Amino acid sequence: MIDSFGARSTLDVGGKTYEIYRLDALADRFDIARLPYSLRILLEQLLRNEDGENVTAADIEALAGWDPTAVPTKEILFAPARVLMQDFTGVPALVDLAAMRDAMVDLGGDPARVNPQVPADLVVEAIGSIPSTGWLEGNGLDLADGVRTDELLRIGGLPYAVAVGDVGRFPNARYDGVPRRFEHWAMPAAMAKHAARTLIAHLTGADPDPEPFAPLPTFWSDQHDFRLLAFGVPALGLDDVRLLDGESGGDLIAGYHREGLLVAVVALGGRAVVTRAARYRAELLRRPALTG
Ligand SMILES: Cc1cc2nc3c(=O)[nH]c(=O)nc-3n(C[C@H](O)[C@H](O)[C@H](O)COP(=O)(O)OP(=O)(O)OC[C@H]3O[C@@H](n4cnc5c(N)ncnc54)[C@H](O)[C@@H]3O)c2cc1C
Repeated sequence: MIDSFGARSTLDVGGKTYEIYRLDALADRFDIARLPYSLRILLEQLLRNEDGENVTAADIEALAGWDPTAVPTKEILFAPARVLMQDFTGVPALVDLAAMRDAMVDLGGDPARVNPQVPADLVVEAIGSIPSTGWLEGNGLDLADGVRTDELLRIGGLPYAVAVGDVGRFPNARYDGVPRRFEHWAMPAAMAKHAARTLIAHLTGADPDPEPFAPLPTFWSDQHDFRLLAFGVPALGLDDVRLLDGESGGDLIAGYHREGLLVAVVALGGRAVVTRAARYRAELLRRPALTG
């Protein structure tokens, strides 16, 4: 590889020496610190791949001197060492891969050859959300991890204040009554419907004893033909997980138990697994509340 700008260097970490390419080798001639971070990543990979053919010194200078107001005229080689993506960008990337495999099939090729392997030092699968409740502070409310509600989704015992969605931490009478938040698409709408019923019951006085909110939490996610479906609260049954169905075509259905009772079902696999997992829904809906 060519190193026209003397960027190649080493970095000693934990007793190991790594070869790196320093952007500050260009700092004398270009205002690198003002480049957007995304372009700095691309610039590093140009320095690392300079070979005089695919990447030339002129390519590096063109990117280092990037003018945000100019119409782009030069292609940039795209060979980053690492790509980090979250859901909103990761899913389209997977869709692109699926489209490329389809195109490969259309052209009579083997779709399995479109199978890039990306080395990763760390994969963060999900980090959840942090409820934004700062504006409610100082009102004497319990705001430790979302807004604590009662089983009717009321806040602080007030008859006309409710919390719904990711932000609400409610005791679910179906389980152990411990207040929990759920981050599931289906939950906010179910909570809003129930909270509306509670509010109307209070306003009209028609129902002095409204029903507690005791949902069966449901979570699903689709990645093309691969599906993840969960009913119940898997976290409650982590100590007793059993394979309920694992025979057909690599699909898998796991049952989570507590006190010998089924508290959650998680299904992974193709479309058919969703139908098979739905069979356990009735059992989860029937089950009595846990004792503790
Ligand atoms: C990346 C990602 C992937 C997910 N994937 C799945 C999945 O595959 N399946 C699944 O079941 N669930 C999934 N979820 C969870 C699901 O999206 C959430 O549970 C659901 O969107 C929560 O809805 P919500 O209405 O409670 O909150 P939100 O959708 O977060 O809506 C809250 C709104 O309130 C606004 N807001 C916040 N504070 C204030 C304020 N002070 N004043 C005014 N407005 C304010 C916010 O801007 C936001 O628009 C995912 C979540 C994320 C982040």
